[in-house]
Amino acid sequence: MRVLVTAGPTRERLDPVRFLSNDSSGRMGFALAEAAARAGHRVTLVAGPVELPTPAGVRRIDVESCLEMLAACRKAFRNADLLVMAAAVADWRPARVLPGKWRAKDGGARRTSLALVRTPDILATLAARKGRRIVCGFALETGAGERRARAKLARKGLDAIVLNDAAVLRSARTRVQLFGRDGSRAEFAGPKLRVARDLVRALEQLARR
Ligand code: C5P
Repeated sequence: MRVLVTAGPTRERLDPVRFLSNDSSGRMGFALAEAAARAGHRVTLVAGPVELPTPAGVRRIDVESCLEMLAACRKAFRNADLLVMAAAVADWRPARVLPGKWRAKDGGARRTSLALVRTPDILATLAARKGRRIVCGFALETGAGERRARAKLARKGLDAIVLNDAAVLRSARTRVQLFGRDGSRAEFAGPKLRVARDLVRALEQLARR
């Protein structure tokens, strides 16, 4: 299969030296890209800013913001059979990117606010026009995980969703549950590369159905 994987956080710029981002290390997405390449798939990896080497045999496209990731994914999705959206895309971005440094404190203010606007949902956008392609999302939850993950699967029109716990951020090991559109549920735990291999196998099975 031609597999498109996204990984890492996005950075949403506020000014030339500041941005909004999150704690994603990119490890799970990179492990998925590596596992898929090892399994013989043709892999494109769209990566946010992370400090990780490119897995062997993987075509990597580096991006910074959600809008850049959307543009790269739109293009790569045209030639993909499977999308695995493991990136931790920022939900909000500053409404304005300032050309110079943000100087709110210079006037002596003790409190200020930052206007934010929603970023586009890359996964839902691509899933809406997926045709026969298989689309798998990720859900990182801190509570009511299964209910939230299943709701997300339905709302975004996915074939499958991987639920993981916020405790696994930046860790080398993970524990995940995979929920399928058909109501199926599987659980995998261990080093991220082994879990990635198990997930790739499960998604291969979904694609064969
Ligand atoms: O809604 P939530 O952010 O929890 O959904 C997580 C899933 O949606 C992940 O697969 C993530 O990559 C994707 N997502 C996206 N674009 C966004 C936000 C999340 O593709 N703007």
